[in-house]
Amino acid sequence: MRIYNTLTKRVEEFKPNVEGKVAMYTCGPTVYHFAHIGNLRSYIMEDVLEKTLRYIGYDVKRVMNITDVGHLTSDADTGEDKMLKGAKREHKSVMDIAKFYTDAFFSDAGKLNIKTPDVVEPATNCIAEFIHMIEVLLEKDYAYISGDNVYFDTSKLKEYYVFANQKETELLEGVRDDVDVDENKRNKSDFVLWFTKSKFEDQELKWDSPWGYGYPGWHIECSCISMKHLGEYMDIHCGGVDNIFPHHTNEIAQSESYLGHKWCNYWFHVHHLIDKNGKMSKSKGDFLTVSLLEEKGYSPLAYRMFCLQSHYRKPLEFSFDTLDNVSSAYNKLLNRISNLKDDGEVDTKVFEEYDAKFKDAISDDLNTSMAITIVYDALKADTNDATKKALMGSFDKVLSLGLLDGPAVKEENTDSELESFVTAKIEERKEAKKAKDFAKADAIRAELLAMGIALEDTREGVKWKRV
Ligand code: AMP
Ligand code: ZN
Repeated sequence: MRIYNTLTKRVEEFKPNVEGKVAMYTCGPTVYHFAHIGNLRSYIMEDVLEKTLRYIGYDVKRVMNITDVGHLTSDADTGEDKMLKGAKREHKSVMDIAKFYTDAFFSDAGKLNIKTPDVVEPATNCIAEFIHMIEVLLEKDYAYISGDNVYFDTSKLKEYYVFANQKETELLEGVRDDVDVDENKRNKSDFVLWFTKSKFEDQELKWDSPWGYGYPGWHIECSCISMKHLGEYMDIHCGGVDNIFPHHTNEIAQSESYLGHKWCNYWFHVHHLIDKNGKMSKSKGDFLTVSLLEEKGYSPLAYRMFCLQSHYRKPLEFSFDTLDNVSSAYNKLLNRISNLKDDGEVDTKVFEEYDAKFKDAISDDLNTSMAITIVYDALKADTNDATKKALMGSFDKVLSLGLLDGPAVKEENTDSELESFVTAKIEERKEAKKAKDFAKADAIRAELLAMGIALEDTREGVKWKRV
């Protein structure tokens, strides 16, 4: 397996610490709002990474946190806790918000065929571990108390900016105009490990600690949760590129200072999903969710295919036009696979030939678009259907596109059958509109679109077409 490592800025041969086993960690969602399809791009690609590692024979243990405390509205440690902001927005308690959006996250992930990591741990479960790590950092003189908060002292490190060069770092700080200067910090790059004093005194969740009643900083949670479940050595740590600085930079600083040795060897970062206004983000408010795609009639798995068609290290621009094209290609692909017959024995030679090609593509820094090309190549191969079907089942262990699940619209439906079904639906929609039941009318349109049928209201009446 060859993989790009943000730490060395190179594509490298992947070698885990223990032969055959992979300790993998993923930064989980901040559960104050729905995950948008940008967040989910990161989780889809991390899912492909995990499944690729398993496919090529590794025994993977994957851990993910749930951020339910400590992530402030700025990635630096100023601003209000995002969870509290979410709770105020919805007039609910922080824990209610956390539960609701954690469930929503796993429901969306499930629709996208994203496997739930082996261990999922909310930050609020691990307060004792955070306190312990901070105590050790204070003992080792890597941390200090100032203005009733505990800070990590970045000047104690040989190298703090492990990922970015200074120029990039300055750039990052330069554009972040919401960062207040914290007079308690000894150095500009120091960060909070434990808050007891913040200008937002209405923080809902607080715990006793040796430094007073307060709450943890965001970065400490990933260091502690990963060590709790994966031990002192980690193979691969994942997140979106916005996590590189300051989050992952700070995770490395505190983890390696605590442990006294190198912590994680490979850092995997997924580039952003962008739209015409730039990076899709929760704080901007108007973002796309899986439910919204479904309401518009798209299969969530068509979005997964959309993501797999480009490389995870490139920004990906979202548009409905492109998603329409991918949806239609996806439905055709499922149709084609569903027409494969069970026609005898699998030809092992052909199976192995295409399986090797697939493995080569996927283990070449996750070349998912090449892997999809191999799906099409295998369907064209000079072999029987049984072999093709077996290949599809095998590839789908990584791609998870539901390749053997059949299409939403069967192309072999006789036209007359489809015609009468759609005509009845159009009639039902007309009645709903007449009765001013627009929700029902929209639901009918969405139901048809999910089957690959688009309705068009024209002066001559409603027309339909396959998309
Ligand atoms: P959050 O819930 O904000 O903590 O983010 C969850 C994950 O989504 C993190 O790994 C982020 O780096 C990632 N992420 C945030 N915005 C985007 C985006 N527009 N495209 C891809 N990944 C993103
Ligand atoms: Zn993290």
